Amino acid sequence: MSNPAAIIGQAEASGRPSREEAEEAVRTLIRWAGDDPTREGLLGTPDRVVRSYDEFFAGYAEDPVALLERTFEEVEGYDEMVLLRDIRLESHCEHHMVPIIGKVHIGYLPDRRVVGISKLARVAEVYAKRLQIQEKMTAQIANTLDEVLRPRGVGVVIEAAHQCMTTRGVHKSDVTMVTSRMLGAFRDDPRTRAEFMSVIGSPVSHV
Ligand SMILES: [Zn+2]
Repeated sequence: MSNPAAIIGQAEASGRPSREEAEEAVRTLIRWAGDDPTREGLLGTPDRVVRSYDEFFAGYAEDPVALLERTFEEVEGYDEMVLLRDIRLESHCEHHMVPIIGKVHIGYLPDRRVVGISKLARVAEVYAKRLQIQEKMTAQIANTLDEVLRPRGVGVVIEAAHQCMTTRGVHKSDVTMVTSRMLGAFRDDPRTRAEFMSVIGSPVSHV
């Protein structure tokens, strides 16, 4: 969000609706739900929903590759696994536009380049703040780290609950979906993968 004016300009060029149009769409959905958007309790709701969307979908305005390219450091000699676990995940499913809430675990084996751990979390966040499916998000995080850091291996595991399954449809309140993407040594070397899985305490050892 470093240059909001440029971002808004870009969105308008691609046919992004105005804020007023977005608020009107929320009023339509309120009527569709069966309520009256002109009653007092709902008057401020379209504005609040549209502002919430600015936060939920802030990831469209950021480029995760650029984010990492600006910040990696060349570090000779450190060749042990770097691992960040239990990163809070808040995303939205692209099929129902309801929350996906869970955890992301990221590990990599550096080959000269490392990034600050906060940047690992930021890459996950940028992809999460878009309409997503969990499988694609898992692959995007791993592929971006692989592309920019060129490590000897990357592992990404996401465990998440999908509100489209827990609060509607089949109503399976205790179901968690686990997805993983393993590249390089995380894919080819069983010891590397086992080390990663054991540190994150993965519920599945075979992924
Ligand atoms: Zn869904």
